Amino acid sequence: MNQVGVKTVLFHGPSGCGKDTQVELLVKDYEFQNIGTGEMIRKLFSEGDENAILATEYTTEGKFVPNEIIYKEMFPKWLERYDNSKNWAFVSVVREVGQIELLDKLLEEKGRKLDLFIHFTLKPEVAVERMSTRKYCPECAATFHPKFKPEQTEGFCTECNAKLVQRDDDKPEKIRKRLEEYARTIDPILEVYKKRGVLIEVDAAPSIEEIHKKVVEVLGLKNQ
Ligand SMILES: [Zn+2]
Repeated sequence: MNQVGVKTVLFHGPSGCGKDTQVELLVKDYEFQNIGTGEMIRKLFSEGDENAILATEYTTEGKFVPNEIIYKEMFPKWLERYDNSKNWAFVSVVREVGQIELLDKLLEEKGRKLDLFIHFTLKPEVAVERMSTRKYCPECAATFHPKFKPEQTEGFCTECNAKLVQRDDDKPEKIRKRLEEYARTIDPILEVYKKRGVLIEVDAAPSIEEIHKKVVEVLGLKNQ
């Protein structure tokens, strides 16, 4: 069981749905800690962690990193860096059905359990419109969008000042293909959480503020 008032939430959604932006708002306004495997791999890699180096080899080749490396070796150690008395937001950490149980176990070891799975949904045409104009930071992986999240100085990362680039991945054809692949992999995962009664789907088409309001509402957070 979670401590009173402490939330454990899993966020997923296709790329371009704005999940990272939403989680950042929860970090800012509701003291959530943002926990993701992408950052884990990057940070541990920079520290010379053996498993992170191995995991990076897999991701560079576009391969799925085995659960042995991510869930059994890296994640338990990584979670020690977070404050267990705070709200936790996990972003896209369950990529296949087999990882559900592994996440359950990790949370249990921390004396927590998953309260909600918030799934952001996005229609393909909306996703294409959003992603084909976004920019990406090759240094810290931040993304910017002229309409939804503009950088402070045009063309340069607001976080680390590196020059922003457009990813080859953000071309319409590739976006559509990625969405199809996403739906194929996420559907069986959604089924499991739906049966548990913790799945909430949130339409990611409205503005950042509107979606944030919805997220705050479904999480039962008080306005501060
Ligand atoms: Zn950056």
